Amino acid sequence: MTASLLLILAYSISPYSLLLQRRSSSSSSINPTIQQPVAAGEEEEEEVLSSEQYSCVSRQQLQIIRSSYSSSKPSPFLLSRLKEYEQRHKRCDPFSASFNRSSRELKPEEDEAENYCRYIVWTPVNGLGNRMLSISSSFLYALLTNRVLLVDFGPDMVDLFCEPFHNSTWFLPRDFTFKGRANTQLLRREEEQKKEMPYVASLLQLFLSYDNDDYDKLFYKSETQPLLKKVPWLVLRSDQYFAPYLFLMPCFRAELDRMFPDDKETVFHHLGRYLFSPSNQVWGHIIGFYDAYLAKADRRIGLQIRVFSLDKTPASLILSQVINCIQEESRIIILPNATTTTTTTASSSGRNRTTTTTAILVASLLGQFYTELNRMYKEWNEKAGATVVGVYRTNHEEMQVLGSSSHNMKALVDIYLLSMCDVLVTSPRSTFGYVAHGLAGLTPWILQSQDIEDEEQRVKEPACRRGVSKEPCLQFHANYYDTSPDHREAGGPVPVIMDCEDFQYGLKLVNRRV
Ligand code: GDP
Repeated sequence: MTASLLLILAYSISPYSLLLQRRSSSSSSINPTIQQPVAAGEEEEEEVLSSEQYSCVSRQQLQIIRSSYSSSKPSPFLLSRLKEYEQRHKRCDPFSASFNRSSRELKPEEDEAENYCRYIVWTPVNGLGNRMLSISSSFLYALLTNRVLLVDFGPDMVDLFCEPFHNSTWFLPRDFTFKGRANTQLLRREEEQKKEMPYVASLLQLFLSYDNDDYDKLFYKSETQPLLKKVPWLVLRSDQYFAPYLFLMPCFRAELDRMFPDDKETVFHHLGRYLFSPSNQVWGHIIGFYDAYLAKADRRIGLQIRVFSLDKTPASLILSQVINCIQEESRIIILPNATTTTTTTASSSGRNRTTTTTAILVASLLGQFYTELNRMYKEWNEKAGATVVGVYRTNHEEMQVLGSSSHNMKALVDIYLLSMCDVLVTSPRSTFGYVAHGLAGLTPWILQSQDIEDEEQRVKEPACRRGVSKEPCLQFHANYYDTSPDHREAGGPVPVIMDCEDFQYGLKLVNRRV
């Protein structure tokens, strides 16, 4: 298929409209992900799948774009677990008889049989970065516990992503109501009574958020997991990337080591890329912008500038910090001296050599960073006599909006474009930035926190530091396991966990101890 036809498709097919079609016909399929072997007698179905390969354009095109720079591959064991998962998802999805029975009766099942369907239902909280992190963690949990991940997306999210699972849907049906039926007291009672459960709940709500209490945190105890295994429906409210904590839990460690045997910094990278293919509508914007402004540059630098409070941190201070970071860290932006540069120079062979060009993508809610950087490099280019540095942005929404589909689409466009850069500078504590560098598979340069109790309001030195890992940070968690540096130095059980660079008491997966 030609690129232009792919682009036309990108703008014309909404995955949500495919879902609506699918909802009225349980036999049709949506998007394939991992190629399935064709068994005898399945040719007809495979035919349908093949023609639908093209319904998720980003999945096709990202594979091509990424193959030129991404070297990290999922382990064979992870791939086999994903295939197995897709089969389970298909068997238990909202169009299946198992789902109908389980959701109608909504009662705990004594049946421990292999093909019994258990679910984890993801519900939204906070911004898109937080959401993508908690979805990927929920999916990892589903892989580890043989559950099926369903998502309760509102209208602000349904058009963001392609269906991730082969020939199936991950949308919780709109008429499924768990509100009022949820039992949030289960763990509490278990802990208080310290005795056998009087009964097993059919549906349990889990809170793994910044504000979870000590009872919610019981989720993170290995000993709680056998109890949770008995509960067919888990409804999760989380804004956290809780995947790293699963590596601390003895009950999951062996399986996780097989899934990620060598590279512990690629957990979100692989799961995020697998789950989050932008919908055709979003992808149309991403690829249009990428082709127009970023593709031709020799080097793409993504600047993600998140300001949590302008009162505490003035924009001028952050701008100085960003400039100090990209200019003083010569590994980030390698620019020849503007006063001596011309774009085309004669080489010793007599042929002309063109100076490398750099595209800077500025992603921020606030427009002023782009305006200032653009002005600065325009002057710089004028002195150099050519456009050596281009500064670009997609949008500037000025403030975060919750519940808006178009706002979330713009956010996803920025996240993806950042993830297609070669170098990333991100803001501390921002899950938006975590997702971008995680998808990219890059260790970012992280701007130093400008906590402005600092009366002098000056840029801290150094303005930014290289991160310790490609992985996102788990910001809020429990303290069941000793993750202190002393313990790790002493050869503690989990050398793959470190403190986050940008968040006190946060944890992240690393390949090596620093
Ligand atoms: P965090 O608050 O930085 O951890 O990131 P979240 O993604 O969870 O929430 C911030 C929200 O603000 C995003 O989801 C977007 O809606 C919006 N936002 C923040 N930064 C940007 C940006 O650079 N571009 C766009 N388009 N939206 C942004």
